Amino acid sequence: MFTLETAATAAYVVAALLFILALAGLSRHETSRAGNTFGIVGMVVALVATIALALARHIEPLGLALLVGAMTIGAAIGLWRAKIVEMTGMPELIALLHSFVGLAAVLVGWNGYLHVEGDPGSAEALQLGSEGMLGIHSAEVVIGVFIGAVTFTGSIVANLKLSARIKSAPLMLPGKNILNVGALVVFIALTVWFVIDPQLWLLVVVTVLALALGWHLVASIGGGDMPVVVSMLNSYSGWAAAAAGFLLGNDLLIVTGALVGSSGAYLSYIMCKAMNRSFISVIAGGFGIEAGPAEDKDYGEHREITAEGAAELLASASSVIITPGYGMAVAQAQYGVADLTRKLRDRGVDVRFGIHPVAGRLPGHMNVLLAEAKVPYDIVLEMDEINDDFDGTSVVLVIGANDTVNPAASEDPGSPIAGMPVLTVWNADNVIVFKRSMASGYAGVQNPLFFRENTQMLFGDAKDRVDAINAALSVAEHV
Ligand code: NDP
Repeated sequence: MFTLETAATAAYVVAALLFILALAGLSRHETSRAGNTFGIVGMVVALVATIALALARHIEPLGLALLVGAMTIGAAIGLWRAKIVEMTGMPELIALLHSFVGLAAVLVGWNGYLHVEGDPGSAEALQLGSEGMLGIHSAEVVIGVFIGAVTFTGSIVANLKLSARIKSAPLMLPGKNILNVGALVVFIALTVWFVIDPQLWLLVVVTVLALALGWHLVASIGGGDMPVVVSMLNSYSGWAAAAAGFLLGNDLLIVTGALVGSSGAYLSYIMCKAMNRSFISVIAGGFGIEAGPAEDKDYGEHREITAEGAAELLASASSVIITPGYGMAVAQAQYGVADLTRKLRDRGVDVRFGIHPVAGRLPGHMNVLLAEAKVPYDIVLEMDEINDDFDGTSVVLVIGANDTVNPAASEDPGSPIAGMPVLTVWNADNVIVFKRSMASGYAGVQNPLFFRENTQMLFGDAKDRVDAINAALSVAEHV
């Protein structure tokens, strides 16, 4: 028989399919808009189905008001935040949203405990008890709370690091690996205990332990590895949602959580490979990475160049590679950069872009900015496609990039970013670095590139400097 309940269940299946289409669409530049639309429609279907299901199960009026009220307030806040967020603020917003998923899983777990294990006389507890399912319920509670709490504090630390409210350098507590592994062992022991004898104090200890572990895991990871941490927390938030889905008996939450969890894990794996990092080391809070000696190396003197000098150098160049980074996004210099590219190409200069996989603050950050400024796709190349071409290039413009062009990654085994593949810009004839000061990049590591003989620093806001070069080139054209 067709009821509201069966309609809602069918809608859940439709929503799950839409989420799969969303993921498929988001995996390619050209289809990403369609992917986003599938995701939005899927979420609307899921929310309407949730309300329908609640009605079918005769929810009390107060419950319905709370449900609709929470959805409305949440949607309003979400729309407002999405409207005002800057592109450079996206990763920290995403980290904050992951923390909400974690917190929700903790609350769902605690709610499950209070209604069943904490209230043995309740109808739910009696039913589960008679079916011999109580132990499974307890396991779901404790695992859901654990994953949720790790995600919650881990995401908060990621948010604080990404928004520069705490230092991005890794926290190096003595015996940090033992602390992490020890916390996991204690968690397993407590889970077994809780399943046998679900006492309140055990759940309190697991919650506190997981909150501390989440905090420590992410605090122990250095700035250079933060891209992997963000996608890893994305994965954790998926598993936290799936755990909540088991407790609530909500199939859509289980499917969606598993999709987010596995796609996030796979993205973390791909990013670890791109950055030559050990997946296990990063998910285990920098396992095996020890603090290096404090950096007090004297790299010598740097040289400076003016915008006019840079324009002259570019005007006489035959080939130019532009390697943008986070600073281009901060300065919003992409439009000026696109203008400069047009000007140079009109003069017959071969201009291409070299994009590092973790340039900026989110995967694909630079590609999005350059596409927004209408830089042709075919001259925007990935690091692997362009790295052999720096040798023999007349001029490289490093626009607001730092860690992603740091030679220490390949030349100094003691560097915190050692082993990370970087754009080998220093092999070009001339390198011009656009930045405002000699400050280090996100990983907090000094960059020997700035002191090389073929490098010149062009200080100032990247947008102002690029505009000044464009102006100088225009003057030269009219002389
Ligand atoms: P970095 O963050 O290493 O450096 C950016 C540079 O831009 C700074 O040195 C800064 O120098 C300069 N800058 C900032 N504002 C301006 C401005 N207005 N005008 C000119 N220059 C400016 O950049 P990269 O893109 O090279 O590296 C990205 C880093 O972020 C990596 O460590 C990566 O691991 C990490 N990360 C990446 C994520 C991703 O998914 N892509 C996510 C999280 C972290 P100054 O202050 O002197 O101007």
